[in-house]
Amino acid sequence: MKVSWFHRFGGPEVLVCEETRKPTPAAGEAVMRVRAVGINHVDLDVRAGTSRIPLTFPHVLGREFAGEVAAIGGEASPLKEGDRAWVSCRVPCATCEFCLSGRDNLCERGGYFGMDLPGGYAEFVKVPISSLQPLPPQVSFQDAAASQIAFGTAWHVLINRGGLRAGNTVLIQAAGSGIGSAAIQVARLAGATIFATASNEQKLQRAKALGAHHLINYSTEENFAQRVLELTSGKGVDVIMEHIGGNVFTRSLECLKTDGVIVTVGAHAGEVVPLDIIPFFRRQLRLVGSKNATVTELRTVMGFVAEGKLKPVIDRAFALADAAEAHRVVDSREIFGKILLLP
Ligand SMILES: [Zn+2]
Repeated sequence: MKVSWFHRFGGPEVLVCEETRKPTPAAGEAVMRVRAVGINHVDLDVRAGTSRIPLTFPHVLGREFAGEVAAIGGEASPLKEGDRAWVSCRVPCATCEFCLSGRDNLCERGGYFGMDLPGGYAEFVKVPISSLQPLPPQVSFQDAAASQIAFGTAWHVLINRGGLRAGNTVLIQAAGSGIGSAAIQVARLAGATIFATASNEQKLQRAKALGAHHLINYSTEENFAQRVLELTSGKGVDVIMEHIGGNVFTRSLECLKTDGVIVTVGAHAGEVVPLDIIPFFRRQLRLVGSKNATVTELRTVMGFVAEGKLKPVIDRAFALADAAEAHRVVDSREIFGKILLLP
């Protein structure tokens, strides 16, 4: 079978398409014929070696993928050979206190495809049968491969950690990003009034098309927090999704409503920030972190994708052999939506 993998850390050029032996399933395992795999930014960090995760070479990336079941090991499987499926991106241990209490996103023993386990940048990949999720006929392989991480992460941030509900106001930072555009759709589904920020008018218009109500251009608007306060009669918003860090985090607190919650889920613009504690307790603000999504939440968002209530934004797809070029495109950030490989 064909696989795009890398034998050493480095730039996009270390990704090479080669032949290797097709995996065979042991009992309790299945082999998937991969039809589409989503590229996530973490793939680039793993390939470059900046994520400091020890790997066995050659390494196969690919966290979220969909295709058909090609082979089943053993007897007990709800899915049969030939069935369409998507594969949940993480394999929880199912025995730790977090897994047992339904918080398997916090499991430290489980593994990720493309990280601890060979991923989907290949024609075939071996997975535990428990990771197979049925894919309804109306959802394309490409949509399935572009949905679980963006929508699952956004769902965990807004609904689980932020407690967002109908009638709430929510500020979504960097609405042009993958998680930002996914969060707008989740917030719209929840029935919230959405304030979206982005760096240019084109991204804001796309955010509007996805369901954002109030648009703030932070390259021309001097102070986005001031603008949010003006638009909310000085009250601020109930929930903020903050995945930028640095000044954006600090300033976001200024437009958080009394007793509101800010959910932090990224910090590319600065990891260590000043925090004025006094307004924080006097206004009873809440700061919570958010990590990935539980398998149940992944199933929930994929259910909404199947119903057409969440629709992934796909920029373009590449052949498996063009994985290096696809990584260059993701790194350029000149994209709106997901980049896929089609093995
Ligand atoms: Zn666990």
